[in-house]
Amino acid sequence: MNLRLSERHAWVLQSEIRNMSIECDRVGGINLSQGVCDTEVPPVVRQGAREAMDQGINTYTRYDGLVELRQAIADKQRRFTGMAVDPEGEIVVSAGATGALYCTCLALLNPGDEVIIFEPFYGYHISTLVATGATPVYVPLCPPDWSFQRESLERAWTSRTRAIIVNTPANPSGKVFTAEELQTIAAFAVHHDLFVFTDEIYEHFLYDGCRHLPPALLPGLGERTITISGLSKTFSITGWRVGYALGDARWLQTIGHFNDLVYVCAPAPLQIGVARGLNALGDDYYEGLARQYLHKRDMICRALTDAGLPPLVPQGAYYVLADISRLPGGNSKERAMHLLRETGVAAVPGSAFYHEGGGEDLARFCFAKDDPVLAEAAARLRTLK
Ligand code: PLP
Repeated sequence: MNLRLSERHAWVLQSEIRNMSIECDRVGGINLSQGVCDTEVPPVVRQGAREAMDQGINTYTRYDGLVELRQAIADKQRRFTGMAVDPEGEIVVSAGATGALYCTCLALLNPGDEVIIFEPFYGYHISTLVATGATPVYVPLCPPDWSFQRESLERAWTSRTRAIIVNTPANPSGKVFTAEELQTIAAFAVHHDLFVFTDEIYEHFLYDGCRHLPPALLPGLGERTITISGLSKTFSITGWRVGYALGDARWLQTIGHFNDLVYVCAPAPLQIGVARGLNALGDDYYEGLARQYLHKRDMICRALTDAGLPPLVPQGAYYVLADISRLPGGNSKERAMHLLRETGVAAVPGSAFYHEGGGEDLARFCFAKDDPVLAEAAARLRTLK
């Protein structure tokens, strides 16, 4: 038999995050490896979806989403960032931010195109690039502030470079890109005529006075940026699969056609639930969310410090990378397994966020957990010898 798996299959093998969740279940541990928020879904969002289902909004929607949701996204984007987006042509509602990025890559990249991505990275970004035939090229972010050099961007550039991915606030580092850094990226993208694909899914998870600046608002970036976000995290609805891409109609039309091909549409009644939430919830909801997660961040960071695993305190998102170099083991996987055995707390080995041997001294802890679960994890971490 000559049948075999595709060459790209190796990139979507069991991820380290899934592996750690399985290991965690095996020992009945506390899973801080996966980014699943178990905080409450806003009642208005749940009720909106229920009502939509009862009212018969259960069939395919237009390829770019229901107008009620597209309008709600445009209104919210204008309210929070000042960005003007036309709900007729400049928005595609997709199956989460993940679906939006996948369709963006299918629409705008050719096989062999290179895409610059900052490291440590979110593994799905890499897998999405590879699955669509593109090649990731890495630019290092340097701890503790996860800064980068303009020269490293230039070194990463080749005549095949088509795009750069910016994830702000970032998973796993929690980095919030500053205005100056985004200006550097903008100048680079304009100079080399590149697309900018953003992932702003953590836009409301900000700490220590940090503000979210959508890259699309920078001079020269409006036309070349595909802004990607979604409500998985903000409304704690990771399983609903509702996200979106925003950008110039020239690109969004085709991104929408790929969305139609791959997903047809995001779940119809859930689109309504999300639209109701976006329309009903104001600043106080988003500020409350950030306050709630700041408390969680501080709880886990204090415990990591006490456990002798110094955290690289994040400015955004809901993960913290900690230095686990003092734990026994030859690499981050062995160290994370030691931690799981000793404390029953599962974290993701740092190597999952680096290519070619980086991150071996790091582990990522997710703090999107209910406070009692987090308190128990903190207590267990403090028992570490
Ligand atoms: N982007 C980043 C950076 C993430 O960390 C995650 C989830 O962990 C996602 C996207 C997934 O978003 P969605 O559920 O909207 O597909």
